[in-house]
Amino acid sequence: MPSWLFRSQCAACAVPATSLCDPCARTLVENGPACPRCAEPSPGELICRRCAITPLPLARILAPWQFGGQLAVAIRRLKFAHRAHIARDLAPLWSPLVAAAAAEPGALVVPVPLHWRRRFRRGYDHAWLLAVHACRSAELAGPSAVLRRTRPAPPQSTLTAAERRANLEGAFAVRDPRALAGRPVVLVDDVVTTGATLAAAARALLDAGAATVIGVAIARATSVPG
Ligand SMILES: [Zn+2]
Ligand SMILES: [Zn+2]
Repeated sequence: MPSWLFRSQCAACAVPATSLCDPCARTLVENGPACPRCAEPSPGELICRRCAITPLPLARILAPWQFGGQLAVAIRRLKFAHRAHIARDLAPLWSPLVAAAAAEPGALVVPVPLHWRRRFRRGYDHAWLLAVHACRSAELAGPSAVLRRTRPAPPQSTLTAAERRANLEGAFAVRDPRALAGRPVVLVDDVVTTGATLAAAARALLDAGAATVIGVAIARATSVPG
């Protein structure tokens, strides 16, 4: 059995620690005052220009940290280095926000899914695991697999914002609309950048009958992380 089952490690540098070790935790930067709709930094928490003109379909997006420092290292290890246990180690950093977003009765926690082919290659779906552990840490019912990706997404980092939106059109579908009807949804992902992915997933959920969608990510990035 792998040793991490017995000994908890820092999610970024793997020294014995719970969640992030102290030196790594000191590199965390709070997202700070942000647009209440899309989580983009905004002095005085005013609605940003983009949300004032073309609001996202989500009621709001919450992201407690800026993507960077050792948190970025931990998220990259989770996604690209086969360290599935990091989903559990990161739970304390954002589960209170998932709990707050899911406070409405009947709320469903729905992770942004990978396409099955990418999940097959990676061996797991990182957003699913993040959601499982955030729910466990917040004492919520487990996540719902109601959403699926209809086609693999090309790497978003190579696309412009407009291409990214077009590329996500119809990229998500709902498996069982009856499971959603009239319920508030907490849509979770690892990192939010422009909100384009969350918006595409939220549109599919709302079209299938979800009452509202709140997005929650661990971190907000200013450019698409590679
Ligand atoms: Zn560390
Ligand atoms: Zn905004």
